[in-house]
Amino acid sequence: MSLSEIQSRIHKAEASAGREVGGTQLIAVSKMQPNERVQSVLEEGHRLFGENKVQEAAGKWPKFREDFPDTKVHLLGPLQTNKARQAMQLFEAIHSLDRPKLANTLARLAQEVGSCPDLFIQVNTGEEEQKAGVFPAEADAFISDCKSMDLPIVGLMCIPPVNEEPSLHFALLKKIAERNGLSGLSMGMSEDFERAVALGATHVRVGSAIFGARDYR
Ligand SMILES: *Cc1c(COP(=O)(O)O)cnc(C)c1O
Repeated sequence: MSLSEIQSRIHKAEASAGREVGGTQLIAVSKMQPNERVQSVLEEGHRLFGENKVQEAAGKWPKFREDFPDTKVHLLGPLQTNKARQAMQLFEAIHSLDRPKLANTLARLAQEVGSCPDLFIQVNTGEEEQKAGVFPAEADAFISDCKSMDLPIVGLMCIPPVNEEPSLHFALLKKIAERNGLSGLSMGMSEDFERAVALGATHVRVGSAIFGARDYR
């Protein structure tokens, strides 16, 4: 699917949900994609991208940013504390703040550096063992701890379990965000971004629908 097709499907979903058209940000998830595909999406004029790994992003984005300086890149994948400093330099936003240790590290570095990327707290809405994120029952306390550390928390992020209806998870994420006064909702991927938009997503993270299947060889 082309970038403009995705964009127009987002606009349709916004309109039918009675939302402002153009209010949802499309993050083009470029992880594991060949540089030519990323280059062509940049040439189409898109400027917001998502990556899963600090190392991969560090190898790819400094060069692209030379040619397209207004590009913004968001980190979507898990972040180890020993890569936090580098991540803060590379990304305009981090969607995977998921534990107190990382919050402490980011807060300390933000003090030292004098700035911090926008942060989304990841919520493990499906309470899955193997998945990152705070459990829904712990979310309110964690959000308030992060706020008291002066971290720039802009919203919440979730990745629903593969075999469940994602809308239930999107609705839960929205409820937790609302009761904590957070407006950002990072939810929805290639298979379900329209349902996420219908439930109020402010950021959808779409990879394979834009770039094609990832090459994991
Ligand atoms: C890979 C990834 C995406 C994009 O997935 P697609 O199914 O290719 O759209 C979105 N969010 C996160 C956190 C990811 O890791």
